[in-house]
Amino acid sequence: MCGIFGIYRHPEAAKLAVYGLYALQHRGQESAGVASTDGSTVCIAKGMGLVSEVFGERDLSDLRGDTAIGHVRYSTSGSSHERNAGPILAATQHGEMALGHNGNLVNCGDLREELERGGAIFSTTTDSEVILHLFARSTQSGTVDALVESLLRLQGAFSLVILLGETLVAVRDPWGFRPLVLGELDGSPVLASETCALDLLKAHYVREIAPGEVLVIGPSGVRSLFPFPKTQRVPCIFEYVYFARPDSDLFGNVVFPVRQAMGRTLAKEQPAAADCVVPVPDSGLPAAIGYSEQSGLPLVWGLIRNHYVGRTFIAPRQSLREISARLKLNAVPALMKGKRVVLVDDSLVRGTTSRKIVRLVRDAGAAEVHLRLSSPPIVNPCLYGIDTPERSELLAANMDLEAITAFVEADSVGYLSAEGMHEAARLPLGGACYACFGGAYPVQYQEMRQRQRQLFEKERR
Ligand code: AMP
Repeated sequence: MCGIFGIYRHPEAAKLAVYGLYALQHRGQESAGVASTDGSTVCIAKGMGLVSEVFGERDLSDLRGDTAIGHVRYSTSGSSHERNAGPILAATQHGEMALGHNGNLVNCGDLREELERGGAIFSTTTDSEVILHLFARSTQSGTVDALVESLLRLQGAFSLVILLGETLVAVRDPWGFRPLVLGELDGSPVLASETCALDLLKAHYVREIAPGEVLVIGPSGVRSLFPFPKTQRVPCIFEYVYFARPDSDLFGNVVFPVRQAMGRTLAKEQPAAADCVVPVPDSGLPAAIGYSEQSGLPLVWGLIRNHYVGRTFIAPRQSLREISARLKLNAVPALMKGKRVVLVDDSLVRGTTSRKIVRLVRDAGAAEVHLRLSSPPIVNPCLYGIDTPERSELLAANMDLEAITAFVEADSVGYLSAEGMHEAARLPLGGACYACFGGAYPVQYQEMRQRQRQLFEKERR
């Protein structure tokens, strides 16, 4: 869970990178950073916290040069620590490389062990750092060749922005798990995880970086390489369900109407005898609109969100998560008193937040609470860059519908079907990764989680 950004040869590169990161803040709130280059030296500024905390008062004049990359991070691999903040930078025999990564490398434990056996000294516990080491050790003579050789060793999810000398490179893994788009501003190429960052800058959206594409933007022009063996494209469907911003154009469809369509299908599949539909803001809003449209039940703003708290899950420790869930929402009893409420959210993970919200609605005087989720039950952890807990903590992996209903203290619970979700996202079953919803893991790596945990355990403690 990270957001990445890049801009090539623009006089305001560093500033625009910071602005771009503001638009991508929802993808990571632990740390933010920008690296820029004038073609000879890379400058870097990064820190823990939100973009506004890291860059708000900062004088950006030390970020010299007209080409920059940016990164906002939420850790899925490696701990939440300043030295793991992106972009990460290394001086190598091929020149300096600065890199921003969104995704998760499933074979990073093996690669790291191999590199360490060969004498590599790691300075972070991120999976991304193995890319720098592979690049540094490559015996290929050209920098792009050395990069491509390194990329061919990677398994899993990697959308990357890279500064290499005077060159900016965009990479998307051949499966296309995470998004990455190309835009253009005043003739300068712009890269971003999501189109909402292009909109902010008034950059023109050109296209997606294709799965398996390595886009090299340099002084001698722009060229696309496709060095990876061909494989099936499986973009992450959870980006549509929850993660991406609703105003983004993702994998070819705007997210908001997709979520709205999920809500409409949910109303068909999981109707409820009720008086009104209440969205769980903000994540449940588009689906609640769809549910209301389809069912004819009025949409009621029974829950008000405090926007200064942030996403609950982004706070990495359970203790913090629980506090922020309480801070985040308040009920409007006057709107729900005596009503049979359909409460719509996008997903149920651990169930702890949902249980609190159901209680909040009931305490506000609702006669009944029918929880409806605009995605299927989450039964597996994500290996490709979304922070989903282990199976043992996933409610639906351990309970049947009756037990889930009792746990969240609702009168009924209804999930969207996998077919309904895929149809709304206009992605056929098998045409997207839905491993977390019980689909196959497109890139297998059996021991990955255990191995990575062993590797990073020391630091976590
Ligand atoms: P819970 O009730 O604890 O299962 O939390 C469900 C809430 O968490 C829903 O409102 C979702 O919008 C949100 N959510 C689902 N998956 C994630 C995730 N991977 N990261 C952050 N938030 C999530």
